[in-house]
Amino acid sequence: MDITKILTSFKIDPKSTLPMYLQIANCLAAKIIDLHIPSGTKLPPERILSQTLGVSRTTAINAYKLLEDRSLVSTKIGSGTYVTAAGSSPSPSIPWEQLFIPQYNSPLSSLLRTMVASPTAENAISLAAGMPDPALYPLDIIESAFKRSNYQLNAADFGHIHTEGYQPLRHSLSKWLVKTGVPSRPDNLLIVSGSQQGLYLIVKTFIEPRDYIVVESPTYLGAIQAFESAGARVLCLPQTNGYDLSMLEDYLVRYRPKLFYTIPTFQNPTGRVASLRERQDLIRLASRHRLVIIEDDPYSQLYYNQQPPPTLKALDTYGGVIYLGTFSKILFPGLRIGWVNAPHSVINRLAQEKQYIDLHSNNIAQTFLNTFLEEDYLPGHLNTVRTEYKKRRDTMANALKRYCGDYVNFELSEGGFYLWCTIAPPASPTELLRQSTAAGVSFVPGEAFYTNGAISREIRLCFATHNESRLAEGIRLLGRILASGCTGTPSASPSTGLPII
Ligand code: PMP
Repeated sequence: MDITKILTSFKIDPKSTLPMYLQIANCLAAKIIDLHIPSGTKLPPERILSQTLGVSRTTAINAYKLLEDRSLVSTKIGSGTYVTAAGSSPSPSIPWEQLFIPQYNSPLSSLLRTMVASPTAENAISLAAGMPDPALYPLDIIESAFKRSNYQLNAADFGHIHTEGYQPLRHSLSKWLVKTGVPSRPDNLLIVSGSQQGLYLIVKTFIEPRDYIVVESPTYLGAIQAFESAGARVLCLPQTNGYDLSMLEDYLVRYRPKLFYTIPTFQNPTGRVASLRERQDLIRLASRHRLVIIEDDPYSQLYYNQQPPPTLKALDTYGGVIYLGTFSKILFPGLRIGWVNAPHSVINRLAQEKQYIDLHSNNIAQTFLNTFLEEDYLPGHLNTVRTEYKKRRDTMANALKRYCGDYVNFELSEGGFYLWCTIAPPASPTELLRQSTAAGVSFVPGEAFYTNGAISREIRLCFATHNESRLAEGIRLLGRILASGCTGTPSASPSTGLPII
């Protein structure tokens, strides 16, 4: 590296409104950050810098001073100015932590973030994140959808659109929903940036601190976080053999909860499907009490035997079901497109809430999805993934019986992404996670899905992300660890701090 050559390449403009010391500092900072000038490099003394660049000594001194303030260089007295180690952070001159408003600090949030961030790290086998396998993303279809002559890029589609969503997508999505048996009209749809955003908007619209919400227990981690961060009080409805409607009714009378959040089809994490009878009974009870139901339904199209019963939305007789859907599991999560299907007045208010944080969801994703639906690519893709995920589910189930049969109990899920397994004592799920993560296999311990500090002997294994041989390898490794005796006390409460995976 020839530092003089780098310095002479800088274009310093004495006529610019930007002071020269700032221009020099910015040029040097760019070279340091992109590693053209590696850490540890000794920079020329200020006298040489000023001569090389034809600026005053004071300008050179000020440029180095600014770089030092940004922690990009350090000065050693009597020795010179050196580039500091990449990534070293500036000393905190503003006490940010003290300025933040008090925050609901979920012990689970680091777990969720890490699961999202590292699901497909090379060589690691993640049975943790509920992610489709990137190898199954329909890249060929996407390419041909964009190339088709009747797909016209239209400048108007790239400006601002309605907060409620790209109109053609609201139409094509509504058509597809109706085809799958979910009643819907374009006006009743709000396109959101993932159903997680839908949940957030629902919380913003309906929940004040100390309001009650009923959830199935266990349930989806992201929902628990959305509710608790809004200060809601969460009432748990244990799901042993279906909805416990007498307990729900008791909650309704005693606490008058604002919402009941449920995932009736291929539940996350248990994989359970509520029967038609249960759904009808739930709707009857909810209708009597005018209870608003949030039906979260990311998985119902991923069935591996027969089609699941109709959605609660389809059975709704009193207009109280708000339905959430997403393309994250059936296409790919990076699209960040989901939808809320609700009465028009609810959509209006949710759209107002959305405007405060997001003028509208991304146009390119929405126009792409509209083509995907209009050209009817979705049914073919769904057939492909159903066939593949069914094989993977069976492979995981067989491997569990073969390698972990003495330690693990589970019921075969009829759809979705997960097997919900109970670990027999004395093995500890937490200890199993600690050892298996070190060996390169991760999963989510059951405690992450409970809000009430229930003692959990369960673990959630996702069979969607990896191919059959990797799945079998992951389960074999879990079996080896279980056989070697990974004992410990199961965690009683998530607030005791979860292992980071
Ligand atoms: N609800 C449930 C039940 C989920 O499992 C997930 C994703 N794991 C979501 C909502 C969030 O999905 P999205 O990517 O659409 O935000």
